[in-house]
Amino acid sequence: MYEDLSVEIFMERLKGRTPDEPEFHQAVQEVVEHVIPFILEHPKYQQAGIIQRMTEPDRTIIFRVVWEDDNGEVQVNRGYRVQFSNAIGPYKGGLRFHPSVNLSILKFLGFEQTFKNSLTTLPMGAAKGGSNFDPHGKSDAEVMRFCQSFMTELVHHIGPNTDIPAGDVGVGAREISYLFGQYKRLAHEFTGALTGKSLEFGGSLIRKEATGYGNAYFMEEMLRHQYDSILDKTCLISGSGNVALYCTEKIIQLGGKVVTLSDSSGFIHDPDGIDEDKLAYLIDLKTVKRGRISEYAEKYGCEYHVGLRPWSIPCDLAFPCATQNELDENDAHHLIEHGCIGVSEGANMPTTQAGIKAFQEAKCLFGPGKAANAGGVAISGLEMTQNSIRLAWSAEELEKRLQDIMVGIHRQCAQYGTEEDYVNYVKGANIAGFIKVADAMLAYGVI
Ligand code: NDP
Repeated sequence: MYEDLSVEIFMERLKGRTPDEPEFHQAVQEVVEHVIPFILEHPKYQQAGIIQRMTEPDRTIIFRVVWEDDNGEVQVNRGYRVQFSNAIGPYKGGLRFHPSVNLSILKFLGFEQTFKNSLTTLPMGAAKGGSNFDPHGKSDAEVMRFCQSFMTELVHHIGPNTDIPAGDVGVGAREISYLFGQYKRLAHEFTGALTGKSLEFGGSLIRKEATGYGNAYFMEEMLRHQYDSILDKTCLISGSGNVALYCTEKIIQLGGKVVTLSDSSGFIHDPDGIDEDKLAYLIDLKTVKRGRISEYAEKYGCEYHVGLRPWSIPCDLAFPCATQNELDENDAHHLIEHGCIGVSEGANMPTTQAGIKAFQEAKCLFGPGKAANAGGVAISGLEMTQNSIRLAWSAEELEKRLQDIMVGIHRQCAQYGTEEDYVNYVKGANIAGFIKVADAMLAYGVI
């Protein structure tokens, strides 16, 4: 049935049955470029149609979310949960609240999550969900009413052994708290059906830091592999959300200098570097006051570039931590020409395919998000473990485990991605992530 398997034919068929899903096509293309040649060398996966099955979600739930704004007007949004694969554990992946959310974006995120969760070595399947609701500019009461309405439907599809959502863009501690409160009320039980919870009700230490810390650790590991380190390197970071801020913190601790951060309105350039005091101001600005990154430039008297992304600034290392497709081929050439030797993706799919090729051709280290940002879901997995055993581990214990997991992910990428004098981390992550899920699917038979 699948003897004519090739990347071109596979993608043509996928696009035929999923038109209007460009982000999903992009994510699948990035994977099958490496996985199909691997499958052709291992016919057992081809005969069982594994990659055809892995690119079709187990199920997709789409629902109406109705809520009242502060003026008493009825608002309608669309809610989603794409349960991609539970081959190696219960569905697990974040919720995104952003006006751009659609099925294509959630399918790309859910598909990538399959490989990411597999790489962590923890027993977690993959899902992604969210809504086109925009929390920006909404009052706490409006966000609460939206979250309660969203959970009123989602509760039927999740649970600690079924599907365990977490945060993502637009879903932080406040949203998770409202969602969990409503879950607990409707389910009539207190179980760890969401991660990213606050410490008072079952959350884990270092969860909020984990994605950013893990991303810095992954870069440190790529550099260590070639006898180098983050120490004294000039670093560009995009975004100023959860991932970007804690990536900044870990880079400072590892002796690097972070000179940019951004939001959807522009970026700041602080050539002196963001130190611990400036970072404390930023964390308060972004997480408590919900302000804009331009306010940092006003406070510290540095440059603010309206409507631009930071990739034109000379640097040693770059960490895209905002959103998908925020770093294109031109940006990649700029970075390489200005001395960049490594890129580690804190965001999901922030680099376009042409951008990735440019980095790889220049032999610039390139850590794809499914490997480099897996620290967040890894600590979410450990939050589930702590909830199950009803214990809380110390920050030191968890950070040690996080570091070990990131080193382990790097090792798997190097094992399957080493090509002569260069490690192709994209290839390594795709193949290593694929094997574990594919072997589980083979064992189950045709389901
Ligand atoms: P946050 O909502 O905390 O922050 C997102 C940041 O990116 C904000 O600074 C936001 O600016 C900016 N941003 C969002 N959309 C755009 C856009 N279209 N153009 C430019 N800037 C934009 O999200 P996170 O930090 O949690 O997530 C960032 C990325 O990391 C996402 O790709 C997410 O999927 C990924 N990720 C997150 C994990 C986590 O644990 N949180 C785990 C693994 C991956 P503004 O405020 O102006 O919108």
